[in-house]
Amino acid sequence: MSRLDVDIKYLKGVGPKRAEMLNKQLGIRTFRDLLFHFPTRYVDRSVTHTIAEIRSMSEVPAIQLKGHFVTLNLQGEGARRRLTGLFSDGTGTVEVVWFRRVKALHDSFLTGTTYILFGKPTLFNGRLNFVHPEIDKEQAAGAMKGLHGIYPLTETLRNNGFSSKTFFTLAQAVLAAVPDIHETLSPDIIARNRLMSLNDALNAIHNPQSPDQLQRARFRLKFEELFYLQLKIQHYTRRRNSSTKGFVFPRIGHYFNTFYSQCLPFPLTGAQKRVIREIRADMATGRQMNRLLQGDVGSGKTLVALLCALIALDNNHQACIMAPTEILAAQHFDTFSAMLSPIGVNVKLLTGSTRKKERDTIHSQLLDGSLHILIGTHAVIEDNVEFQNLGFVVIDEQHRFGVAQRAKMWRKNATPPHVLVMTATPIPRTLAMTVYGDLSVSVIDELPPGRKPVQTLLRYENNRYDVDCAIGRELRQGRQVYIVFPLITENEKLDLKSLEEGYERVCDTFPHYRVAYVHGRMKPAEKDYQMELFASHQADILVATTVIEVGVNVPNATTMVIENAERFGLSQLHQLRGRVGRGADQSYCILMTKHQIARETRRRLELMTATTDGFEIAEADLQMRGPGDIEGTMQSGIALNLHIASLASDGQITQIARENVDFILDNDPELASPDHRVLVKQMQQLFDQSFDWSNIS
Ligand code: ADP
Ligand code: MG
Repeated sequence: MSRLDVDIKYLKGVGPKRAEMLNKQLGIRTFRDLLFHFPTRYVDRSVTHTIAEIRSMSEVPAIQLKGHFVTLNLQGEGARRRLTGLFSDGTGTVEVVWFRRVKALHDSFLTGTTYILFGKPTLFNGRLNFVHPEIDKEQAAGAMKGLHGIYPLTETLRNNGFSSKTFFTLAQAVLAAVPDIHETLSPDIIARNRLMSLNDALNAIHNPQSPDQLQRARFRLKFEELFYLQLKIQHYTRRRNSSTKGFVFPRIGHYFNTFYSQCLPFPLTGAQKRVIREIRADMATGRQMNRLLQGDVGSGKTLVALLCALIALDNNHQACIMAPTEILAAQHFDTFSAMLSPIGVNVKLLTGSTRKKERDTIHSQLLDGSLHILIGTHAVIEDNVEFQNLGFVVIDEQHRFGVAQRAKMWRKNATPPHVLVMTATPIPRTLAMTVYGDLSVSVIDELPPGRKPVQTLLRYENNRYDVDCAIGRELRQGRQVYIVFPLITENEKLDLKSLEEGYERVCDTFPHYRVAYVHGRMKPAEKDYQMELFASHQADILVATTVIEVGVNVPNATTMVIENAERFGLSQLHQLRGRVGRGADQSYCILMTKHQIARETRRRLELMTATTDGFEIAEADLQMRGPGDIEGTMQSGIALNLHIASLASDGQITQIARENVDFILDNDPELASPDHRVLVKQMQQLFDQSFDWSNIS
């Protein structure tokens, strides 16, 4: 056991009561936990601002002022007792307030003495106001010069006297108690990347001597986190690749060739051809394919899936296509059967609403091999669905399915089928390294020719009349229109009300047109019926919530109005917008918002009007939203547990970490060299005690 594993209550200055609080509030249990509770930002206390200056600053961080108290007054009684003061530095005055320990503070401050005040000002009743600032005598403040960490704290901790200063002091106590912290990276990695030692980095992160030193410390600590994450993912992937045999599909035969030369409805784009080559090569190696196909909405992923399924057929295997919704599954079924029946391919659809008789036919045809391609929803992974020889599986719109479901498809055979997962949610490449770290990635980065990019417009409530006129013009030309309302799950009643009101307003405004209506809480049959009305052009307008987000293809729909667009995330807006612009006509996406929106929100929406590039949008979304819900999308199921690195903004370090991992595993795949012992040990410590590295036992 390392000294870092000692219970925090034994640290000088902590004790059982504070230990329990740290544990409850921040999950800090050991010396190590405390040492890895890093500042999230730093302030430079060598700089002193003037009050006149901060009045002209638009956003004020925590700053330092130098001056004296003009007045200091104890006010109120009991719980409402507070200490207020006016602090002046000759260029102006600010208000200062304390709500706790007011008596002691009042006794310790003197009017007229020069103090250094440190804190983050807020605007209250039009006046600059500091609540609970730190106050130091001028001489004592001399020791405060330089960079000071601001530690993340909870309100409860703050109310119990914890401050950034407390954490700084406690971290120093740990560093004093454990003077030489063991290195956790191997010497070759440290040398190759010119990294600071762990010991130096931990000292510097809590008490940086210069911005440059802080930078190097942060790099070292981020690198380490991302390195071990990549090592874990690559270890898992390499082991899976070497231990699972896959089918070998060497042939391109009758089905593929006939379809390609006689039935292809349009020439493939260069990108489609390239990814088909990649997939084909992958399926011929004898390893099981696990490939992610990323392609923006409308880039033609379905046709790629279809052609690859034909390769499986040519090699005497069956294929299965799984989609997240009944609507989408039905649409794929229509596409596949229309294109493939002429060349004698048997395609069938299996969903939750498939009737018993059809279900029985499907089951027996799957077993005797006469059913070539099965398309469906989750229903296809049920245990009673058995194939004669399933060789290729496509999972469409992967982000809707979990890891477990993917794995379930593998277990359908003794030899697992090749798996292609498709997604229209583009994520930056360095992020894909982690989220989809165990998959190979193919990208369709080209749209079919002749597409006109969707024109996106930002409009406000007071432009409503013009927007209605524009919709009317499209409808008169025989085009169809989507009108999308947001759905906020916290208040279903309110949502439904806004959707229903919207629906009525649309019916009133366009009395001569037929309006269909879908939302997520409808019964599937009702939803399908309404969608079908729109898809078959028996309805001109579809009023909907985001249920239409995924995959639906109605090329005659040229306009989408998104109500309360400010409530949607960028990636979601992009997905929605992908429903229009699917035909040859110019399409429009109108983002409606109320007039007053925050500057940040306006920036987000303006980005939507400026670009239709899914990757650019995904990158921006990630920067703005942060990687908050990335963990939920982690495909490998590995817990992230990052203290300092960010998948959103540390893409470059991820890349460097990955290169290091590849280099090490290429040269020492079993991590057998004595140098690399430390890596194995650290992996066990980080991920689980029973971590199994094949040759270590
Ligand atoms: P997504 O990648 O979003 O799933 P789809 O596969 O639904 O996109 O394709 C969108 C539309 O583009 C479909 O109507 C499809 O028929 C058409 N399409 C696909 N490939 C091509 C191509 N090479 N040339 C022209 N149109 C194409
Ligand atoms: Mg699709």
